[in-house]
Amino acid sequence: MLRLEELQVVRGRTRVLHGLTLELGAGEIAALVGANGAGKTTTLMALSGLLPIACGRATLELESGTLDVARSTPAALVAGGLIHCPEGRQVFARLTIEENLRLGAYLNRDEAEVRRLLGEAYALFPVLGERRGLNAGGLSGGEQMMLAVARALMAQPKVLLLDEPSLGLAPQITERIFDTLVELNRERGVAMLIVEQNAMLALEIAHKGFVMEEGRIVMSGTGRALLEDAGVVQAYLGASA
Ligand code: ATP
Repeated sequence: MLRLEELQVVRGRTRVLHGLTLELGAGEIAALVGANGAGKTTTLMALSGLLPIACGRATLELESGTLDVARSTPAALVAGGLIHCPEGRQVFARLTIEENLRLGAYLNRDEAEVRRLLGEAYALFPVLGERRGLNAGGLSGGEQMMLAVARALMAQPKVLLLDEPSLGLAPQITERIFDTLVELNRERGVAMLIVEQNAMLALEIAHKGFVMEEGRIVMSGTGRALLEDAGVVQAYLGASA
């Protein structure tokens, strides 16, 4: 569904991605893991059109045809169902929870449909419904992550790009978020590319995993196979194991 072929991305004067190739199938969860600075966030930013692709190709295959990321506007990618849930949540602190959620559906002109999606978001995360009229800045880190996920769902994603969903969260909240992601994948078939420092957590729920080093994929396999690989465990899972 999402295919990256020999992707190269330059930030400032530095080439950060050096020919990155990976595939995410429809309905799959893939974990992208690796050390700090490997280029994981850069990969997600390039996929959602926030950074230009210098070389190589990224494509999103839809029933209606194939979208070439480099030739598509971010709005076209969102309309195609490629939704980015960015690092650090990035909720709008001075807007209400409901206003934040509505921004996720900004391309949707069908008010009845938007209301239905709001109802789904509040059913998924009741705390958001209870506080819908309050500013998002008053939410805890975990609640802001729930809001960021719920906002992404308002766009009815086919592929969700998640950047560090566990960052700064207590283990129980992280578990709740990851359980929700698994449920969304199983019940709605949302494909996910998850970037995580907590590699073990991400590989546990992933159908497949990619290990990234200095802008390239150096290893890939099923989530389970990577979790059982002594080299991967030593290099990437030690801190979070
Ligand atoms: P982390 O796990 O620490 O978030 P990451 O794998 O997501 O790391 P990126 O954030 O994609 O890594 O960064 C990859 C490289 O790009 C790093 O070497 C970083 O220094 C560089 N980089 C990041 N942002 C910029 C920028 N705005 N300008 C120039 N170089 C940047």
